[in-house]
Amino acid sequence: MAAEKMPWRTARIGAIAPVTPRVKSFRFEGLEGRHRAGQHVEVRLTAPDGYSAQRSYSIASAPGDAAGLELMIEGLEEGEVSSYFAGIAEVGDEVELRGPIGGSFVWSPEDEGPVLLIGGGSGVVPLLSMLRARFSARSETPMLLIYSVRNAAEAIAREELQIRARDEPGFDLTLLTTREGATAGRRVDRVMIETALDHVGKPRHVFVCGSNGFVGSVSDLLVDASVKPSIIRTERFGG
Ligand SMILES: Cc1cc2nc3c(=O)[nH]c(=O)nc-3n(C[C@H](O)[C@H](O)[C@H](O)COP(=O)(O)OP(=O)(O)OC[C@H]3O[C@@H](n4cnc5c(N)ncnc54)[C@H](O)[C@@H]3O)c2cc1C
Repeated sequence: MAAEKMPWRTARIGAIAPVTPRVKSFRFEGLEGRHRAGQHVEVRLTAPDGYSAQRSYSIASAPGDAAGLELMIEGLEEGEVSSYFAGIAEVGDEVELRGPIGGSFVWSPEDEGPVLLIGGGSGVVPLLSMLRARFSARSETPMLLIYSVRNAAEAIAREELQIRARDEPGFDLTLLTTREGATAGRRVDRVMIETALDHVGKPRHVFVCGSNGFVGSVSDLLVDASVKPSIIRTERFGG
């Protein structure tokens, strides 16, 4: 169903938890139905005077997660919707959601692999859902995540990702910190992509998510590295 035809549903915030200094996790109650890993929802906020604003947010939780649908939202200064989530939202608040939305930026364990995931900043959120879905299905599909962030403290779910890379057979993580540590000043580049491709094997699916600039430059690098454009799926968060 087209997104604009989907009904809005009221969802109650059941839990809020800090994820990084700028990102918080929100668990929503009262949402039935299953999504596919990689999909997003639309969130609509309406002020008492009737003014409303809506934005898209990727689903972080795995399909069927009993703890409820999870979003991870980065608070942007002056951001109309994200600043509500960063500073005002409380457990018990109700917002309107619709979805799940998205038909091509999705992966399920049946889709197999190898799978190359490349995320920048909050662009890791839908990729996290894919990793969580892989784990829920006890899948050992080869999957490699290149995750680019400015510094380690800004890495969403860093500890979870590191534990998954340590414990889950077939999953590998390359965490790139562009402003600190040994990789300061480095961006996702051709060498990194070729190393990842050598490691994970010829990919069946490639998912790239982040800001417009990040997705554009990574997609170019993938094509330069002879990855077929038809297997590269992208999600742009804006910015
Ligand atoms: C499919 C999809 C999935 C997404 N998933 C996620 C996700 O999982 N997590 C996430 O955090 N985001 C996600 N996004 C991005 C999200 O939809 C919003 O774009 C983001 O939260 C910013 O919305 P906002 O209303 O807070 O900012 P907006 O009000 O739309 O502002 C956008 C930018 O402009 C700046 N700005 C706004 N007003 C002013 C002003 N007056 N002067 C100067 N600058 C200004 C803000 O600082 C901000 O940087 C996703 C986007 C898409 C398309």
